[in-house]
Amino acid sequence: MNAPLVRGWCPGARRPMRSGDGLILRLRVTGGRLASETARAIADVASRYGNGELDLGRRGGLQLRGIRDSDFAAVETELAALGLLDEDVGAEAVRNVAASPLSDLDETAEGDAFALAKELEAAIVADNFLRALPGKFGFSVDDGGRFGLTEVPADVRLRFVRDGVAVSLDGDGRAIRVQPEEAVAVALRLAGAFLDLVSRIDPPPRRMAALVAQTGAEAIFAAAGLVPESLAPVRGSGSAQMIGAFSTHVGVGLTFGRLIADQLLILADIASSDLRLTPFRAVLLPGVPADALPRLAEAGFVTRPSDPLLAVTACPGAPACGSASVETRELARRLAMLKPHAQGTWLHVSGCEKSCASSAPHAVTLVGRDGGLDLVLDGRPTDPARLTGFSPEAAEALLRSGMIEI
Ligand code: SF4
Repeated sequence: MNAPLVRGWCPGARRPMRSGDGLILRLRVTGGRLASETARAIADVASRYGNGELDLGRRGGLQLRGIRDSDFAAVETELAALGLLDEDVGAEAVRNVAASPLSDLDETAEGDAFALAKELEAAIVADNFLRALPGKFGFSVDDGGRFGLTEVPADVRLRFVRDGVAVSLDGDGRAIRVQPEEAVAVALRLAGAFLDLVSRIDPPPRRMAALVAQTGAEAIFAAAGLVPESLAPVRGSGSAQMIGAFSTHVGVGLTFGRLIADQLLILADIASSDLRLTPFRAVLLPGVPADALPRLAEAGFVTRPSDPLLAVTACPGAPACGSASVETRELARRLAMLKPHAQGTWLHVSGCEKSCASSAPHAVTLVGRDGGLDLVLDGRPTDPARLTGFSPEAAEALLRSGMIEI
C-alpha cells in the first residue's frame, strides 16, 4: 500500500492533505449518491481511524478528517472494499464532477444529471490527455430544475435545457447546445482546448474563468472547433431551498458543512434508500417523511430553512488547519445571530486568504492574518481590507455596534 502523499490543496482518498488535526481524505461520490450501508461504513472508518469529523465540500465531496499517518494504508484498504477508491491518483485528481442531487425525483428537472455525471466521470478518467488538468479544475452537471448549480464552482458547466444540454465555460454567458448524447464529448473538447491554450501562456492560468478573462471565450470555443450561442441567465439554488420537508425528500443543513460520524449514522438509519450529498452544505434523504425532522433536529442538523446559521460560512480555522492563526467557527456562530432573518450568505470567516470555504464575495468577510482579523466589505478574502488587525472580540464588537451596515 502507498505511503501518504501529502501535497497541494485538493485532497483525495488516494492523495491526502495534511492539516492541523491529521490527514484529510476527500471522497468523490458520483452524483453525491451514497447508499445508506456505505454511509454507515464511512462513519465507522471516520470513527476508528480519524477524529470522527467529516466535512461536506463545495462540490459535494465528503472529507474524513484527523486520519493518523499510521492508519492511512488500512483506511485505503477499507475504502477500496467499499468501491470508493479510484484506480490511481491521476484518475482521482481529474474526477471533479458536481451534479444536481434529485433529478430522478424533481419534476422540474429537464434531464437525468446523475446518469450524465457518471458518463462524464468515466470519459474524463479514460482520457489521458486530461490528466494534465489543474487540481481544482472541475465540471458541473445541472439538471435544469430547482436544484441548479450556478453557484457551485465549475470550469465547464453542463446544464439540461428543454431541448438538450447547454455546455458553457465559467466566466462566459454563452453555450454550445447539443443533444444529451453529445454533451460529454463537447465538454471534453472544451477542457482539451483549455489545456491547449494554457500551454502557450506563461504563467498558465489555472482556472477556466482566468483563461476566459485573458484570451476571451471566443478563443477557447474556436480552439475546440465550436460556435456558441447566447443563453438566458439562470438563478442559482442554495441550501435554504432544499432544507425541511418536501414531497420528494427531507433535507438537512450542516453547520459549516461539518458532519460528525454519529450524525452520519443517524442519516443512514433514517434514509429509506440512499443519501444525497449536495454542494450546498445540505444532505437530502429521498422518500423520507416529514416526521423524521424532529429526530434530525435533535441530532444537531439544521432543519429550518430560515436558520441564521445557513447565512454564514467559515472554514475550519485554528486549530484544525495549520494555515490558520485564528479561530473561525465559534466566531461565525456568534455573529450569525446578528442577522436572524438573513437571505443568502452575508458573512464569511476565513482563517487565511486561501478561502477554502467560499470564493464568492460576501457583505462581510473576516480574514485571519498573523493572529488578527482583517475586514473586507462586499468582497472576497483576497480583496483589499477596509480595516486590519482586529482581535476576534474587537471585530465582533464592531459588527455589533451597527457602525458597519451588514
Ligand atoms: S482558508 Fe481556512 S481551511 Fe483553508 S487554508 Fe486557510 S485557514 Fe485553512
